[in-house]
Parts: sequence; C-alpha cells; structure tokens
Amino acid sequence: MKTAVYPGSFDPVTNGHIDVIERALKIFDKVIIAVGDNPEKKPLFSTQERMDMIKESTNHLKNVEIDKLSGLLLNYVKKKNCNIILRGLRAISDFEFEFQRALMNRKIDNEIETLFIMTKESYVYLNSSIVKEMAMFRGNVNPFVPKIVEKRLIEKFKYSKRHKSLDN
Ligand code: ADP
Repeated sequence: MKTAVYPGSFDPVTNGHIDVIERALKIFDKVIIAVGDNPEKKPLFSTQERMDMIKESTNHLKNVEIDKLSGLLLNYVKKKNCNIILRGLRAISDFEFEFQRALMNRKIDNEIETLFIMTKESYVYLNSSIVKEMAMFRGNVNPFVPKIVEKRLIEKFKYSKRHKSLDN
C-alpha cells in the first residue's frame, strides 16, 4: 500500500489543494492530509475547523485520511510508516521555499522523499491568503473554494450572500 503525507496549514482548504489531492490519489493508494500550523502564519480557522472543512470537501474521495500534524514533519511521516511527503507547486514563487525544505528534510532523513504535484493552470495563482483577503472584503470566493469553505468564510466575516450582492 503506497501512502503519501500531504502536510499544510489549509487555512482554509482551496480548490487548488483538492486538485492536488485528487491527482495524488491517481498515484498513491492513500493520502494522509496532515493539518498543521505554519509558525509564520496566524491561522483564521482553528485546526479542528480546518480539518472539518477538509473532511466535508473530500467526502467524494476514497482513501483520504485527515489528521492533525504536530511536531516535526519527518517524525510524523515515519510514525505513519510512510516515506513520501507530498507538496503542491504553483508558480515559481513556491519553488525556492519548497526546494529548501525538501533538501533540508532529505539531509536529515535520506529515506524520505518529497514529491511535487503541479496544480491545474486555473489554480496557479490561488492560495488561502488571497481567498481570506477576498472574503474579508466580501468578494465572491465561490470559484476558488469548496462550498463548505465559502459558507464558513461568510460566517467568519459575518455577512450574508444577499448582503454581498446588495453591496455590488
Ligand atoms: P503551508 O503553509 O505549509 O505552505 P498551505 O496550506 O499554504 O500550507 O499549502 C499546503 C501545500 O499545498 C503546499 O505545498 C502548497 O504549495 C500547496 N498549495 C497551496 N495552494 C495550492 C494551489 N492552488 N495549487 C497547488 N498547490 C497548492
């Protein structure tokens, strides 16, 4: 059974993340989505809220596990008896950061490989921060996130879809 761990903050999960997961499931028997906190980012949603949104957005997929990531990623991956870290690649801007991480992890543990999956072209510029910013200013995030995420963002920033359309 080939398993990959897909770590990230998923704050919140976007269609870009889902696209990466769907592509990974064509290669791996199982994908573990490990929800952690990036120390450089202050999350909008709690870990539990983020996990719940991922659960609902992936319920059309089999062989997906959603888990909380704590501690060092390499230790977590080993604990799961796995040797693949999966990351998504968007624009070139991701490259330097991901390259440094992947090589650093390889230096610490040569048995663990980082694999990158490129997203669909239409999601290349999509990230969770842009989505949060759009939602904060009542922009329409519908094309970029699963339905449940749109709903939770509207609740978080306390407006209604009706209100939003009146604003426009
Ligand atoms: P992190 O804070 O750890 O980067 P993110 O939730 O922002 O966590 O992203 C998790 C992974 O998903 C990263 O590898 C990131 O590059 C990738 N990713 C995020 N958005 C997209 C997207 N639109 N298309 C492809 N990969 C993406």
